[in-house]
Amino acid sequence: MAGDTISKLTHIECSICGEHHDPEAVQTICTTCGRALVARYDLEAAKATLTREALGQRVASMWRYEEVMPIRRREHIVSLGEGMTALLATPRLGARAGASDLWVKDEGSNPTGTFKARGISAALSKAVELGVTEVGMPTAGNAGAATAAYAARAGIAAHVAMPADTPAAMMDEVRTYGGSLKLIDGLISDAGAWIADQAAERGWFAMATLKEPYRVEGKKTMGYELWEQFDGRLPDAILYPTGGGTGLIGMWKAFGELEAMGLIGSERPRMIVVQSEGCAPIVRAYDAGADRAEPWADATTIAPGIRVPVAFADDLILQAVRESNGDAITVSDNEIRNAILEVTRAEGIDVCPEGAATFAGMQKLIAGGRLDADSRIVLFNTGTGLKHPELRVTA
Ligand SMILES: *Cc1c(COP(=O)(O)O)cnc(C)c1O
Ligand SMILES: [Zn+2]
Repeated sequence: MAGDTISKLTHIECSICGEHHDPEAVQTICTTCGRALVARYDLEAAKATLTREALGQRVASMWRYEEVMPIRRREHIVSLGEGMTALLATPRLGARAGASDLWVKDEGSNPTGTFKARGISAALSKAVELGVTEVGMPTAGNAGAATAAYAARAGIAAHVAMPADTPAAMMDEVRTYGGSLKLIDGLISDAGAWIADQAAERGWFAMATLKEPYRVEGKKTMGYELWEQFDGRLPDAILYPTGGGTGLIGMWKAFGELEAMGLIGSERPRMIVVQSEGCAPIVRAYDAGADRAEPWADATTIAPGIRVPVAFADDLILQAVRESNGDAITVSDNEIRNAILEVTRAEGIDVCPEGAATFAGMQKLIAGGRLDADSRIVLFNTGTGLKHPELRVTA
């Protein structure tokens, strides 16, 4: 579909120093202070057309929230049908943990099998709109797979760097979609350094988590969908398997936009970070009352999406958790393994290890009196279990 979108994008703003940046130029991080940039919209104008009635008539993907998406021309939207995933009531799973109003937002049905599709669809669309033809992506696995797929969809080149011990399925995806793949002897942070170097030398546009402004815009649509799927209300608590925090920061931003448009009040879900015992920089900072997180040494966990020793926007994650009266908790790899079987067998939802971690985290929070078992709780299953043959029952 050609023509102008009804995007109300006005400018790009630094999340820390407030400096304004041009939305019609390729942007990475703040040129003044080096921190994360975020997109801003004329929400007064957006609210005239972004109503639940209007949304009901629109495309069944995340692109239905067009007013608050950053793309100017419809032909630039690079889509494989991402978003509008199922929000599933899970009473049988809830009963196992004493939770009476438990839901799973199942992101495993997205293109390339994870919610990374949302962020990459948005970022790549904007990059295409601004004339980018070659992108670089450091990844713990799934973002690389999504980047290769969406680059193929857009007809541009993708260069992906990931740890050499990433699950093979994610490497195979990059290669199959025609992306170039560099295996790094290290973690996503080391892949990030390699991509930054190569991008500077070869002119690639680097799309590392929160080092460009638009992946958050894709992931924020999960917040809009929760609002729409719960008939204009938000849940009481959201448990989110946290790596770089794009989705948590994005949903928090969505709730702010919804309030600014008069579509919700000042109430917010408790934003709850779930990390692995072997890599928990945000939980450690939260427990210590710190505003920033120290890098985690020797990060190790069976859940690659949350094997992220350094989150570039750690302060934005911690802010959302604190302002929402949220919480932060770790789970062990063993708890994740058990939770995979509990969720898949109780509800038939094929969880990835990161998604399973949220159920394990919820059980511990309820048992410890830190989470009201009768509140409306949403667990994020961020991807499909199919990419993890190493975690499946084979005998
Ligand atoms: C990337 C990823 C995460 C972490 O997402 P962030 O928004 O970066 O915190 C969780 N689960 C899966 C499956 C992932 O691929
Ligand atoms: Zn700044």
